[in-house]
Amino acid sequence: MARLNILHYPDSRLRKPGLTVETVDDGVRAFIDDMLETMYAAPGIGLAATQVNVQKRIVVMDVSEEKNRPLVLVNPTLLEREGECESEEGCLSVPGYYETIQRAERIRVSALDRDGEPFELDACGLLAVCIQHEIDHLDGKLFVDYLSVLKRDRIRKKLEKQARCEARAS
Ligand code: ZN
Repeated sequence: MARLNILHYPDSRLRKPGLTVETVDDGVRAFIDDMLETMYAAPGIGLAATQVNVQKRIVVMDVSEEKNRPLVLVNPTLLEREGECESEEGCLSVPGYYETIQRAERIRVSALDRDGEPFELDACGLLAVCIQHEIDHLDGKLFVDYLSVLKRDRIRKKLEKQARCEARAS
């Protein structure tokens, strides 16, 4: 297993949409394991392949307290969305920023699991928010896109400045 490099906003590669995974083979499973390791190490509760510069429709998540319930969604599709909720979201690609975002409260999603088996899942609360956030990544969308232009620009400038400082330091 290996830890993968997470891209940071406003890296344009975060805008590339993911492609449908045709077969969940050993190569895909090895990549899923690397994604999980990277997510747990970060630490985060969700990670999309887009964030590690791989254009495949794969997300991993774990919203459990004990961090022992990994959830893998390959080719996830939102089938239903219901209600509205607001919650504070953060993102491993937008480090240090948390903003209140509106999402559907309950969702139904279909996907393939780590073995390539199709399944459907009903989710609400944090899990529903997390799934919507991660599927957005696969479409090249970030939670900052829901913010006002002013707010988004402020975050972008600060992260750009931070990236320049880090580049100088290394
Ligand atoms: Zn994210």
